[in-house]
Amino acid sequence: MNGTDSLLTFASHDPKTGEVLKEFHITDQANVNAIVVDARLASLAWQALGFEGRKRVLLNWCSVLTENLNEIGSLIATETGKPVGDATLEASLAIGHLAWAAKNAGRVLKSHVRPSGILMFNMKSEVERSPMGVVGVIGPWNYPIFTPMGSIAYALAAGNTVVFKPSQFAPAVGDWLAHSFATIAPFPNIFSVIQGLGDTGQFLTKSKVDKISFTGSTRTAKLVAATCAERMIPVVLECGGKDPVIVAQDADINKAAENVLWSAMSNAGQTCIGAERVYVVEEVADAFIEKITALAKKIEPGKNYGPATMPSQLGVIQSHIDDAAAKGAKFALGNTTSVGERYVEPVIMLDVPEGSLAITDETFGPTLTINRTASIEEAISLANATRYGLAASVWSKRHGHHIASQLQCGMVSINSVIAFAAIASVPFGGVKDSGYGRIHGPEGLMEFTYPRTIISPRFKIPIEFTTFSRTRFADNFIKTLIKFLHSKVVG
Ligand code: NDP
Repeated sequence: MNGTDSLLTFASHDPKTGEVLKEFHITDQANVNAIVVDARLASLAWQALGFEGRKRVLLNWCSVLTENLNEIGSLIATETGKPVGDATLEASLAIGHLAWAAKNAGRVLKSHVRPSGILMFNMKSEVERSPMGVVGVIGPWNYPIFTPMGSIAYALAAGNTVVFKPSQFAPAVGDWLAHSFATIAPFPNIFSVIQGLGDTGQFLTKSKVDKISFTGSTRTAKLVAATCAERMIPVVLECGGKDPVIVAQDADINKAAENVLWSAMSNAGQTCIGAERVYVVEEVADAFIEKITALAKKIEPGKNYGPATMPSQLGVIQSHIDDAAAKGAKFALGNTTSVGERYVEPVIMLDVPEGSLAITDETFGPTLTINRTASIEEAISLANATRYGLAASVWSKRHGHHIASQLQCGMVSINSVIAFAAIASVPFGGVKDSGYGRIHGPEGLMEFTYPRTIISPRFKIPIEFTTFSRTRFADNFIKTLIKFLHSKVVG
């Protein structure tokens, strides 16, 4: 951070105990603006390094992160409350994305020549991808390294400098990332971190960044998008989900139950792409419910997953359980007293009315609704009957792809859960209230660039079109050519 930071501070807390971990200086608006100015200056030299130069730097960062995997794993675990194993897995996946972005940016973003068409056959048409300049990344607390790295790595590899605002619930992870980058950075201000609460995020969206990549709630995403609209800057929004699972008659029930349970309850249910609603066809519903409930009974909060990272989430989880109970849902596991002071016991609700909060709103807790359907068509229809559209999981031995293609969401796992997040070559993002834009994969690299079309004459032709001295012959030539090319009625 710059030297003149505001004296205002905020504290990070251990979600397991509530005890203060560390105080952080809040970056005030003047400093956010100054950091963005520094990042813009640095972006020129960062772009000048080229793909190979940036690749070397980013792969060196990968090495530093890998060498210090235990340290970052334990820091994430401390700030979020999740088990160290989960935190280390999260950091490992983030490193995988960084390496992929570094190695593939040159290939994906290289300039290429396009056909010019018969009318413009003498022109050479090229499209090159230009970095945006400075990208502002606003991160969440549930996966404090994996999620922002999906923007940071891809934006840096594409040639942008990055200013990152971590969540107020994971500031130390943000600082750690900045310090680790500084150990391998060829010069300063390529990757900077600002700290603070929601206001600091807002300062970033109002600063002179060229693009914002935001992960968090739909409510805040709309505020971010509105602010970006004022400056006409593009934005990537990775918001929440209400991810459905469809279990078909020909599903491997044991595997489905085991994986869906992990998807719903790991990380205390605080996973935007985690299972929240199951639609299981009647024929296999009893078997699925029996299996998943038996497995869920073995899960222990505090061992298999941590406390709610953001204490206010407990109220949301409680309200969803209470609402479902009041509307007539049955409980296969847990009940309205399952939400503790910090931890939530696993909750599985059955026959939950479709208008319940537990079906319509993101719960972000270790809870799962399971509703029976008369057919796969009904399951698909209910899965799509939501304002969200992030991810989904489909369990069927023979019809997985057919079902997946009918789901209104950005990512579907067939006979698996969440695995797409670990595959760096595929895009990640949603539709509807789950946001727009993509991180990860070639789409994620392109997201942090804009296309620049460059055309030039390859050779001279006797007919000139773009001049006031265009001849009657040229006009007739165009007419004849267009008729020849496009007048035929097809079918
Ligand atoms: P928010 O959307 O409020 O916060 C996400 C990020 O945006 C944080 O870094 C936050 O900073 C920042 N922020 C807050 N207000 C503004 C603003 N006006 N302009 C710019 N940035 C801002 O989410 P919460 O952390 O409050 O969580 C609320 C809900 O969002 C959860 O219950 C969950 O349902 C969902 N969520 C979804 C996530 C996902 O992965 N899609 C991740 C996290 C939450 P600060 O933390 O300092 O307030």
